[in-house]
Amino acid sequence: MTADTYDDDVALRAYVLRHFPHLMTPLERRVTEYIAPIVSDAEDSKLLKLHEFLEERDGHVVDADVISAFQTPYDDRIANAVDRVLETRRGELIENRCSQCQRLARTPVAKQCLWCGHDWH
Ligand SMILES: [Zn+2]
Repeated sequence: MTADTYDDDVALRAYVLRHFPHLMTPLERRVTEYIAPIVSDAEDSKLLKLHEFLEERDGHVVDADVISAFQTPYDDRIANAVDRVLETRRGELIENRCSQCQRLARTPVAKQCLWCGHDWH
């Protein structure tokens, strides 16, 4: 995406996914961060460690819910999770917008606009 092709909806969705995954539910995080289901009965010890880490970080997620969510394609899982965050937790987003062009900055703490070059340091 360039300044000419900037699409606020696309930019906002990518921004939520990159900077506000903590606004997702534990299940949403579990099924959007990985392309394979991370469940408690994994045979690979690395996956078991990862499962342990995720349970600790996000809270418990039922294996059956993870498996069931994987019936939905990856891109749709992401779109659904981002939709829910935008619909129910929009107030918790820090939308760092440029005061000149109103486009979203690259990060919540950026002080320069990627799109028009405006600098607010
Ligand atoms: Zn700008």
